[in-house]
Amino acid sequence: MEILANYINGELIPPHSSNYLDDINPVIAEKFAEIPLSDEEDLRLAIASAEKAFPAWSGLSTKERADYLMKISNLIKDNLEELAVAESTDTGKPLQLAKTVDIPRAASNMEFFAHAITQFSSESHAGKDSINYTLRKPLGVVACISPWNLPLYLFTWKIAPALAAGNCVIAKPSEITPYTAYLFSKICMEAGLPNGVLNILHGTGPEIGNAIVQDKKIKAISFTGGTATGRKIAKISAPLFRKVSLELGGKNPALVFADCDLEKTVDGLVRASFTNQGEICLCASRIYIEESIYEDFKNRFVEKVKALKVGNPSKQANNMGALVSAQHLEKVKSYIDLAKKEGGNLLCGDEDIELDEETKNGYFLRPHVFENLPNQCSTNQEEIFGPVVSLNVFNDEKEAIALANESEYGLASTIWTNDLSRAHRIGNQIETGIVWINCWMNRDLRTPFGGMKNSGLGREGGLEALRFFTEPKNICIQY
Ligand code: NDP
Repeated sequence: MEILANYINGELIPPHSSNYLDDINPVIAEKFAEIPLSDEEDLRLAIASAEKAFPAWSGLSTKERADYLMKISNLIKDNLEELAVAESTDTGKPLQLAKTVDIPRAASNMEFFAHAITQFSSESHAGKDSINYTLRKPLGVVACISPWNLPLYLFTWKIAPALAAGNCVIAKPSEITPYTAYLFSKICMEAGLPNGVLNILHGTGPEIGNAIVQDKKIKAISFTGGTATGRKIAKISAPLFRKVSLELGGKNPALVFADCDLEKTVDGLVRASFTNQGEICLCASRIYIEESIYEDFKNRFVEKVKALKVGNPSKQANNMGALVSAQHLEKVKSYIDLAKKEGGNLLCGDEDIELDEETKNGYFLRPHVFENLPNQCSTNQEEIFGPVVSLNVFNDEKEAIALANESEYGLASTIWTNDLSRAHRIGNQIETGIVWINCWMNRDLRTPFGGMKNSGLGREGGLEALRFFTEPKNICIQY
């Protein structure tokens, strides 16, 4: 069993407290590693090493920093198999998904921002008697805090632009899925990343996470996680006038019109609803279907969902693995009970799961589909973050938009139609930061990524991320 270590000042070191937490494999419900429980002393060391590293790191040319990011990207690719197995073991997600999505995307994040920083330019404004130009300086020591659902994918999505822009980073992965962040420390060491440029602290949110957020030396926080945690971070950061980027929860609507390509839509929405066991902030969870095709859509959708195979995530035949933890499984199950109490008609989900001897205690759950739920009920309003979706009816476009927008969240939506004008019209009116038309999770890393309303503040991706991690300074010269 591996005992994980913090990565501080270029070294793997045990926590100051000597205390550890269990890392559970959700597929077999057994401990497979121990995680450092870091405290303020570990943070003090990490910040001191980051501050020491900052002048040299920020003083490198963009090409020199990009070269380090490329080395890290290549090492992620070289270690794809080991990283994918670790990610699947820690999260319960299908190994095939980790191999084809999570780990390749982590490599792409490093590569993308290596290229982006060499192309990053700032504005100049020429006037009648003067010219202004903008410098974009790195902020100093910044924090990146990420969740458990796409561990290395989201961890690197934050770290890459922060480092590329010349900052030094204190990063905290989720205590629930810390393993690939630990392997990433080793990769950074192998890549020769200068000491202190990146520091990775393990431990719990309320303890080390909160200590990071409280520290006034942290100049900006890039956070992905739940809305309640994001609100706490915003509250602590506001009086410090500190920059925050908050990527928070979602309750994503899908609008299915009678003129859609039904077969493709059903396939697309089965994927959008249940990829990664529904544990993606972008997953569809409220599906609104035009009345004239409701029964047809429902029958085809439920048939395909029933055919999904749930079980050991290392077996390629299985489409869905285990939920991330016992606690999360209980939370999702409590929403299933609530949906029934709210009058929901369960169309599928309570069939038995056939598990082998090894995985019989794992945190597995079949995909659940409900109908007949009012739009205002908790099942249709609160983020469940698991394999549970509701099917709902609408009569016309206006009602579809109103139902979709009746939500505190505004992260992502999907629209399924062959009417081009309608697609543009709804794209314009729907209150989500990301709108996918006849597709889902089609990502271009150059685009602004983030949510409206309670789904967050600010945007990640492309130049938005590089702007976030830099401070603009205007210089005016009179001719
Ligand atoms: P949490 O908000 O519980 O945790 C996110 C991260 O914050 C973890 O590393 C956690 O540490 C840490 N944390 C928890 N409490 C604090 C605190 N008080 N101060 C500082 N850090 C803290 O979210 P989950 O990990 O449960 O992730 C699921 C949520 O993330 C969902 O709501 C989902 O929608 C959202 N999400 C949003 C995405 C987006 O792009 N908008 C993408 C992916 C997920 P620890 O886990 O160790 O306690």
